[in-house]
Amino acid sequence: VGPAVGLRLRGVRAGYGAVEVLRGIDLVVRRGAVTVLLGANGAGKSTVCAVIAGGLAPTAGAIELAGADVTALPAHRRVGHGLAFAPESRGVFPALTVTENLALALPRGVDASGGVAAVLDRFPALAARRRVAAGNLSGGEQQMLALAPMLLDPPRVLVADEPCLGLAPRISARVLELFAELAAAGTAVLVVEEKARHVLDLADEVAFLDLGRVAWSRAAGDVDRDTLADAYLTGA
Ligand code: ATP
Repeated sequence: VGPAVGLRLRGVRAGYGAVEVLRGIDLVVRRGAVTVLLGANGAGKSTVCAVIAGGLAPTAGAIELAGADVTALPAHRRVGHGLAFAPESRGVFPALTVTENLALALPRGVDASGGVAAVLDRFPALAARRRVAAGNLSGGEQQMLALAPMLLDPPRVLVADEPCLGLAPRISARVLELFAELAAAGTAVLVVEEKARHVLDLADEVAFLDLGRVAWSRAAGDVDRDTLADAYLTGA
């Protein structure tokens, strides 16, 4: 089963040239739970994601995946430690149909026709469009197409940077549901969001990014929504 902590950032500092954006980020994302990282526009949420992905090297601190220090590893080697991202636009081939895309995305060892049928069963919206080229799907449908196969082989850690941006409410609800299903299957899910309301009900833990640090983090049930509103006002 492996360690209970899927992803941990310890004292991570990073920025762009002389501008330091992250000033010592400490964050724990447990397996089996959805952690939501909130922060105002420009607080550094995308920078946190870039550092986790390996696209931006921290100047100090460490990143651990399932207990292994991956700080010095390039992006492609982190995938081997079970790290996945959403929206996963690279996962979709626009010229191929939904069925063809699913067949290609199935985890190794899963029977193609059985695996595709299993995914389509759980995603009626994709089933209805199984013969459509992925390039003709909406952004939300493409995201579902990229994420759905993960259910057959859940990643250890999934990082989603504003996954609901620009999605129709019905699709964004389905995407959030999928994160909860992945968490239930043991994935450590980190959802990074600017707007809190639609993700709070899904969250197990909430962390608030402000002034380059995690200002506070607590169980979602202990988050007072008025405090959150205040945090946004002072953080703006
Ligand atoms: P948003 O919701 O707008 O994406 P965010 O919380 O994700 O905000 P970041 O995108 O991480 O914030 O940006 C944090 C700060 O770093 C901002 O002040 C931004 O202007 C700056 N920044 C981001 N990317 C770069 C870059 N490539 N070069 C220089 N500065 C950058």
